[in-house]
Amino acid sequence: MSGGGPPTLEVLVERLGQLPGIGRRSAERLAFWLLRASSDEALGLAEAIRAVKEDLVSCRICGHLGESDLCSICTDERRDAGLILVVEEIKDLVRFEAAGLHRGVYHVLGGAMDPLSGVGPEHLGIDGLIRRCRDPKNNLRAEPVREVVLGLNPTLDGDTTALHLAAQMEPFGVQVTRLARGLPSGGTLEQASVSVLADAMDERRPLGGGTA
Ligand SMILES: [Zn+2]
Repeated sequence: MSGGGPPTLEVLVERLGQLPGIGRRSAERLAFWLLRASSDEALGLAEAIRAVKEDLVSCRICGHLGESDLCSICTDERRDAGLILVVEEIKDLVRFEAAGLHRGVYHVLGGAMDPLSGVGPEHLGIDGLIRRCRDPKNNLRAEPVREVVLGLNPTLDGDTTALHLAAQMEPFGVQVTRLARGLPSGGTLEQASVSVLADAMDERRPLGGGTA
């Protein structure tokens, strides 16, 4: 289509081609699908994209997304606010939630430390986690944090982050645990099956030299 199509269509193909895993040919297929789709279908997609960008806000406690400054997990009083599962990305949280593996709450870091690329603790949501652990007043329902489970990817960056967090938590007497190995090393939580994740959660191990 390059060169031959109307510029408006070409802009759509280019935009779609920027999506992860979508090459030029797929982008063209999607663009032609949208062209043939009803206005409801096509504009419904546009509206869904607008809504996630404009209507969702970051939860002020955990970093998840929601429609107000506290997400639906943080406002759920049935959840154990003393048990925090730390994840790198929201997609990891969504995965644990979909599998129903966690009855506590979360803290989303927004990535992992990567010293070689210049990503240090100051670029991640680590301060917020430390505040929650240091003083119950900063946690949900002023609940003291008993355990922080590090649900980080089994990668070098995940390990670097885990060690840093364990050292930071040490003064607070919070039990820091880490998901059991069994997750393929170097892989991501995203690639692990639900049963592997469930085992990793059940058999989590103390980390660091704190009260564990
Ligand atoms: Zn939240």
